[in-house]
Amino acid sequence: MADPNVADGPAAAPASGPGAGTVRRGIGVSPGTASGPVVQVAPPVRPPADEPPTTDADAALVEVKQAFEAVAADLEERAARADDTAQQILKATVLIARDRSLHKAVGKHLAKGVGQAAAVHAGIEEFAAQFEALGGYFAERVTDLRDVGSRALAQVLGVPAPGVPELTGPSVVVAHDLAPAETATLDRAMVVAIVTEAGGRTSHTAILAAQMGIPAVVQVPGATELPAGTLVAVDGDAGEVVVDPSEEVVAALHRRRQRLTAALAGSAGPGVTRDGHHVALLANIGGVADAVEAGAQDLEGVGLFRTEFVFLSADTAPTLAEQTEIYRQVFAPFEGRRVVVRTLDAGADKPLAFADLGPEENPALGRRGLRLSAERPDLLDTQLEALAVAARETGADVRVMAPMVATAEEADWFARRVRENGLPKAGVMIEVPGAALRADHVLADCDFGSLGTNDLAQYTMAADRMQGELSDLLDPWQPAVLSLIGTACRGAARVGRPMGVCGEAGGDPLLALVLVGMGVSSLSMAPSKVPLVRLALSLHSLPECQHLASIATSARTATDALTAVREAARPQLTELV
Ligand code: PEP
Ligand code: MG
Repeated sequence: MADPNVADGPAAAPASGPGAGTVRRGIGVSPGTASGPVVQVAPPVRPPADEPPTTDADAALVEVKQAFEAVAADLEERAARADDTAQQILKATVLIARDRSLHKAVGKHLAKGVGQAAAVHAGIEEFAAQFEALGGYFAERVTDLRDVGSRALAQVLGVPAPGVPELTGPSVVVAHDLAPAETATLDRAMVVAIVTEAGGRTSHTAILAAQMGIPAVVQVPGATELPAGTLVAVDGDAGEVVVDPSEEVVAALHRRRQRLTAALAGSAGPGVTRDGHHVALLANIGGVADAVEAGAQDLEGVGLFRTEFVFLSADTAPTLAEQTEIYRQVFAPFEGRRVVVRTLDAGADKPLAFADLGPEENPALGRRGLRLSAERPDLLDTQLEALAVAARETGADVRVMAPMVATAEEADWFARRVRENGLPKAGVMIEVPGAALRADHVLADCDFGSLGTNDLAQYTMAADRMQGELSDLLDPWQPAVLSLIGTACRGAARVGRPMGVCGEAGGDPLLALVLVGMGVSSLSMAPSKVPLVRLALSLHSLPECQHLASIATSARTATDALTAVREAARPQLTELV
């Protein structure tokens, strides 16, 4: 826990000198501790609005060509050190940077007097439009093209290249925020921790970090002002970042981690309460690498496979064969175990280029999740067919569920389509308040429900989950959210359907007890969170969990709910969390 000698984040002193050792407090979203030098992620580069016009087009073009050449040389250097796959991609990107017709396109804008940076931007966008129109392989290169453009823009403007810089050693990656695709492609071997100024406890970056087992703290004030190379100690459990930590601070963090590790050493086997009530402990995964890791762990299976994570950077829809192969690899480690697959939850905070229905005023309330599947049944059917083939070939107990279901008709439509594709078990996520209130009707034609507490909190409290400043409203301990969860569990029980939890709430050991007390039969979370939840369950009986649930739901505020449950839970648990 917090060192009593440290100051609060907003008043934090500079990274070195007399203020060294100060703490910046944020929200811990992925457990674990680590220390290392800061590597800052540069923000995207845009042409400045007040850029002067070009007066000497020839001289300006020479400079632009030099900028593209510098980008090409840098990428070439990286390619020389990269593994095979990355090498191919980087080499193809080098060719884009050296493409003469691209330089010519930029030259045309310069000749018209457009400023250098604006001309680079315009030339790139012209090419992007052409690539997109050509489709196929070319359309897939649009992301690379824009990356080259941003890098050339940074050269022209003399600012750092955007994105995560190449890491040459263990580093703490610090950013204002990270896009899900950026987080997903971080090098796990090099990134020891993630710190962001923005982001929230249920932002997809936070979720990915927890799944990757990288300690992370979000909502850290002034994080982007930390000079690159500053040593920081990151505590993903307490949500703290110690700047220029003393040896004692690093040692104290290490000791706390050791205490926790020792307490969890005996945590093994299926989830059971002290009096023997079974609660399945499952993993949230986002792709093949996660599946391989989770499959090797002491888990009963997967409670949420977020399939859209696999395709975050795909420009075109994955084919039936491509999807089948991926699902086969995901299911293979779980032969004989449960794998709950969620069909594409594209849109809003998880945009997929190939499933874009155009701009919307309010994407979180728009055509996302199952609503998008209704507009693009071709995408859903290809996915279901691929899942069915992979399930048959691997022997995993595959169950399929839909995201963002709001009504009984939607649930019925989805369940029918799942079964028509030869998949035996269909479920829905309960993450829209309307579905939670009517869970008995929504689940009547389905086999199971799974509470998506991240979106349920967002929609119940009318607070954008991407808006880290609204973290208090998004707290799953909010009594209104807990009441809705209770209602949904009672609805499911009335029609005899099991209800799980796959939102982040399931990985909070105290909240997990409350959820089990409300009737939840499975908890799915980042595998790194399972041992502590398992320990929490083993220390409490089902009647004790039910008591904790009634304490939590009768509290007036989120803080009261957490405090009351913490006080009533067993000290062997509360002294660890
Ligand atoms: C949720 O909303 O709680 C959930 C599990 O889904 P996601 O976080 O991917 O929206
Ligand atoms: Mg959701």
